[in-house]
Amino acid sequence: MKPVLSVASECAPLIKTGGLADVAGALPAAMATQGWDMRTLIPGYPAVISQSGRGRVVMEEDDLFGGPARIRAVIADGLKLLILEAPHLFDRGGGPYNDPSGRDWPDNPARFAALSWMGARIGAEGVGRWMPRIVHAHDWQAGLVPLYLSQRGDDRPSSILTIHNMAFLGMAPANLRAALRLPESGFTQDGYEFWNQISALKAGLVWADHITTVSPSYARELLTQEYGAGLDGLMRARAANLSGILNGIDLEAWNPATDPHIETYKSPGGKRRAKAALRAEFELDEADGPLCVVVSRLSDQKGLDILLDALPALVDRGGQLALLGSGDKGLETRFRQAANAHPNIAVHIGYDEAKSHRMIAGADAILVPSRFEPCGLTQLYGLRYGAVPIVAYTGGLIDTVIPATPMGLRTGVATGLQFHPVTSHALAGALIDAVTLYKRPGTWAALQKNGMRQQVGWEASAPDYAALYEELSPD
Ligand code: ADP
Repeated sequence: MKPVLSVASECAPLIKTGGLADVAGALPAAMATQGWDMRTLIPGYPAVISQSGRGRVVMEEDDLFGGPARIRAVIADGLKLLILEAPHLFDRGGGPYNDPSGRDWPDNPARFAALSWMGARIGAEGVGRWMPRIVHAHDWQAGLVPLYLSQRGDDRPSSILTIHNMAFLGMAPANLRAALRLPESGFTQDGYEFWNQISALKAGLVWADHITTVSPSYARELLTQEYGAGLDGLMRARAANLSGILNGIDLEAWNPATDPHIETYKSPGGKRRAKAALRAEFELDEADGPLCVVVSRLSDQKGLDILLDALPALVDRGGQLALLGSGDKGLETRFRQAANAHPNIAVHIGYDEAKSHRMIAGADAILVPSRFEPCGLTQLYGLRYGAVPIVAYTGGLIDTVIPATPMGLRTGVATGLQFHPVTSHALAGALIDAVTLYKRPGTWAALQKNGMRQQVGWEASAPDYAALYEELSPD
């Protein structure tokens, strides 16, 4: 097996705030099928340490941005982890990035520079006889890995930066340069400087040997001003070293035939009981339209304000909505109000993994109205569970759903509905179409069956990553 180090700020099932964790948690098994031995460096948050065994200390650092640190190698949930134990940075309550009240930790630049620093050190020195041939960094939190690695001479592994979301640039005040051990010469427009600040993501985009993002369509979008977050020029300059590799989902965790969170089923027909249970859980009455769900962070990216305005098109036609999400307080309030105002809308504000399984299992359709979406995972869960995705035409949602256009239906390949532009008017149109299609049971069942047959695991993408790893680390 060929060694590869993955560096990520979250990793399911140990610590998760979004899709990055799912991917970081699923990649090692996917890459093992391709002959790659992936170990994952993650911060030692309390949740990570409490869920993993003692393992053994494989590296120590006297002063890692203000305190001592060590790397502990453990195996947890089948993952080979290298846990960065640095209590002064990671032993605290709240989430991975926020304090208990939801505010970003003020020392986030140093916390994730520390993660990146140790990623580069393990990349350059290995642990014991294990010497990675590739260092694969994820998002801004690991964005400084390629830069730090480049300072360690030529005899070093190649680096890859994967963008899971270009909207998070990892900004830090310019006067932290020395404290973050960044080379002064790199503080330029062609380097890690961005609007006179430091951008950890930009550093990764400049110094990585290769950049990937999580879908081919998002890779193309990043070259444009509309989606490039101010870095589209840099992305165009690096286009030859940019690829889009679609995320997969964990086919064991998300398997309607074996899912421990639900009464399992193997075909769309088995959904009936899951749907009745979901209605009961959300206190929704019987209705003759489709039961739609949303499982999402409530943020501007996800387009849920657009959904609020489009909802009458669904619920006034006998459709229903059950939403699970948390985040933006304004959106939480508006969804609660919508639920109070209409019997066909039910809302649960919170984060609940088990409930998310029950919802996708019981749903007729899953809604993903994102303004932009690097890949999106919930539409893939929907496909696997016979919950027809109704999605915005953007990013990975373009690449994973085959729309029910007249020809898509006639040729029998459609798996969902897509709307464009991302406006409430266009979404309302898609919801009206969904109600109509739902009332043609044969057509709806065909959409579900096509979706349930679609390849949504890592079968296709793991070989793509493997080919990239090979290209970047020839024997
Ligand atoms: P993002 O990473 O932008 O949040 P993705 O669709 O890539 O979006 O991944 C989101 C992941 O987080 C999915 O696994 C989804 O099921 C999960 N998720 C989001 N919100 C919730 C929630 N409120 N409860 C449970 N799971 C959630």
